[in-house]
Amino acid sequence: MTAMLSGRLALVTGSTSGIGLGIAKALGAAGARVAVHGLAAPEERTAAVEAAQAAGAPEARFFDGDLRDPAKIGALMDAVAAWGPVDILVNNAGMQKTVALADAEPGLWDAVIALNLSAAFHTMRAAMPGMKARGYGRVINVASVHGLVASKEKAPYVTSKFGLVGLSKVAALEYADAGDRESGGVTVNCICPGWVETPLIEPQIAARADAHGGDRAAGVAALLSEKQPSLRMAQPDDIGALAAFLCAKAAHNITGAAIPVDGGWTAQ
Ligand code: NAD
Repeated sequence: MTAMLSGRLALVTGSTSGIGLGIAKALGAAGARVAVHGLAAPEERTAAVEAAQAAGAPEARFFDGDLRDPAKIGALMDAVAAWGPVDILVNNAGMQKTVALADAEPGLWDAVIALNLSAAFHTMRAAMPGMKARGYGRVINVASVHGLVASKEKAPYVTSKFGLVGLSKVAALEYADAGDRESGGVTVNCICPGWVETPLIEPQIAARADAHGGDRAAGVAALLSEKQPSLRMAQPDDIGALAAFLCAKAAHNITGAAIPVDGGWTAQ
């Protein structure tokens, strides 16, 4: 049987680590060629490419580029396009730092907005016209529960994620009638995770572990108990499984959605 995403090319930004790596593996397992991307040491790049291939990707290649810089985003999109047209674009690379609004440096604001929000604008502008022309395309923007509700000490992050949800809805509307059920259509959705166990949230785990004599498990439990009613971390592979489903032709009418994967966080 032909794999579901056989013949598709997926670019997953920030896929050398965490959620992006989980998505790269899931799309590879579904048969897509995967453009792995991130700011990472050579051994981490190689490990991510090998992980995508081991999961089943017929081909995986690494591409770099600091997504805070629009010129580098342009170069990234050109380099991937030279390999093949982007059918699946996953805007996942992101950063966060917890700090009170009054103490947040303007440079932090600029960096978080550039990476978490503006980068998606630039990549979507480059990739989406081709998706429309081919009648199939998937844009999956990894937002956050913080694109749906706020928490204190995350002003730049929450702003970037609310913006990403809005950007995704606009693009979903503009491309809603592209293609058809047979070709798969062009859809744009956000995945909105709660806590996912990745390096991004280690500082927040560590801060709580410190209050429990350095016990990391106690730190994780404390973090979950504050917001996530399931009291379970999501894993990157869980997010990957949802991303792969969104790429199926059967998902042709799911567009403009912001899908929480948050153990009930935003149900409260
Ligand atoms: P991570 O730190 O494990 O991975 C981040 C990835 O982004 C890495 O591949 C890194 O190389 C890349 N990256 C960082 N800065 C970059 C830059 N300037 N240019 C290009 N690439 C850059 O983090 P993660 O937890 O996997 O986060 C992935 C996405 O998921 C982020 O957008 C984050 O906001 C979102 N998210 C994470 C959680 C969570 O609990 N971990 C929850 C909700 C949303």
